[in-house]
Amino acid sequence: MSVKFRSKEAFSSTSYTLLPFRFTKIDEDQYFLSTDYGEWLCLDSYTLKTLLAKERIVDEQIYFQLKARHFISTDTTNTQIDLLASKYKTKKSFLENFSQLHIFVLTVRCNNSCVYCQASRKSCQSDHIYYDMSEEVLDKSIDLFLSMPSSKLTLEFQGGESTLTMPLIKKAVQQVKEKNTDKDIQFVVCTNLCELSDEDLDFMIAHNFSISTSLDGPEELHNHNRKFGRIGAYVPLVDNLNKIKNKGAFNQVSALMTTTRQSLDLHKEIIDEYVRQGFRSIFIRELNPYGFAQKYFHKIGYDSASFLSFYEQSLDYIIELNKQGTIFRESYAALILKKLITPWATGFVDLQSPCGSGFGVTLYNYDGNIYPSDESRMMAETGDQYFRMGNILENTREELFFGSVMQRIAAAGVNDSLPVCSDCAFSPYCGADPVRRYQVTGSIYGRPGKDEFCVKNKSIIQMVIKKLVGADPQTREILLQWGAK
Ligand code: SF4
Ligand code: SF4
Repeated sequence: MSVKFRSKEAFSSTSYTLLPFRFTKIDEDQYFLSTDYGEWLCLDSYTLKTLLAKERIVDEQIYFQLKARHFISTDTTNTQIDLLASKYKTKKSFLENFSQLHIFVLTVRCNNSCVYCQASRKSCQSDHIYYDMSEEVLDKSIDLFLSMPSSKLTLEFQGGESTLTMPLIKKAVQQVKEKNTDKDIQFVVCTNLCELSDEDLDFMIAHNFSISTSLDGPEELHNHNRKFGRIGAYVPLVDNLNKIKNKGAFNQVSALMTTTRQSLDLHKEIIDEYVRQGFRSIFIRELNPYGFAQKYFHKIGYDSASFLSFYEQSLDYIIELNKQGTIFRESYAALILKKLITPWATGFVDLQSPCGSGFGVTLYNYDGNIYPSDESRMMAETGDQYFRMGNILENTREELFFGSVMQRIAAAGVNDSLPVCSDCAFSPYCGADPVRRYQVTGSIYGRPGKDEFCVKNKSIIQMVIKKLVGADPQTREILLQWGAK
């Protein structure tokens, strides 16, 4: 019996339709192409020109990749359109349940005094009547929180130092457990871990809290950035980390690192400190331009280029550590990799479009004011109430979530409708951030293509893509593992 194969030309056909995609040059003779659903490919200029002219793609492997990743089609049927719609829906699945992260700022009093404090902290001794959340505001906030449509919610306690108000945290947990009938609720506490009693730690561990703390690097650097009385914040932090380890709950702890000018020459020391403390990842964050970080920028700040160089050195060092057998990852790069190599949404609100502010996050301030993000309340603390959605004691849920602030954010928080972003090949992996853009440029629309939000994201996304594409097999394997988690 003879088998008839279709001719080679039937595969490397000229009769294809271009599907929507964007492209940008990322290297000498290398272009990055991406679709709305996050699929991507790198092509040389000759092949890109051939593709754009809809001429025959001779390289069969590339032709099939273009077809499989939906850059071209030979049959634009309803089935294919349904498939693409389903992919798009999966990428935007974070929108399905509206705001899932609810941040309760229980106090702005704090026992630390950090050089970059963005929360406009007040001293521990300040009058808690003025700076702690009242029980009335807490009760109403919990009712609003539990009325959210999502079946999965996160309640994050923040400050100041949130654990200065342990009775409020305990009351909130008790109320949520009493009133909640069916929702899956995760508690998070943001704490500098400087002054926690065993009893408080046991409470958090028993209620399966995620404990989010800060570690800026080795002792000298951490103490330079974060002051706790006369001794610096490092020793009490490490003491409490050890206590948590001894209680077998270290897997509930994660740490954030904030980069100051003093960090820029210390990437190895910072990462080594994380490894020494037993962490499996680091989130390298630049300074946020709020609060003290803005006021003391002349002492601790730096330009975007310095941060990007520090970030790349850190990334390369972490990859090297992995090659030597230490399993460790950089969380921001891992989020971008997840967007690049999986069909899923990440749930990371800083890199979302529509933006995380308001749509993914709701912040309940100690004074009852409601904001769409932590950054917008930080701005409010310094006198700018542009993003105040209303007050829990005065406004209904509809007034809060459909009011003028959310309308403004909706208009500026979608990449597809922003100039430059709508044509940007990195858009599926980037986000929109009207709050930060307003803070830095004075406009919620910012200056996409030029503002620092764009410069940082574009540079890091491109850096990650180039490392992945140009990697040796071992590096590639490491990066793929980061993205697959
Ligand atoms: S950054 Fe956090 S821990 Fe440091 S002073 Fe501000 S509120 Fe306190
Ligand atoms: S902010 Fe910049 S990198 Fe991000 S989508 Fe917009 S243009 Fe692209």
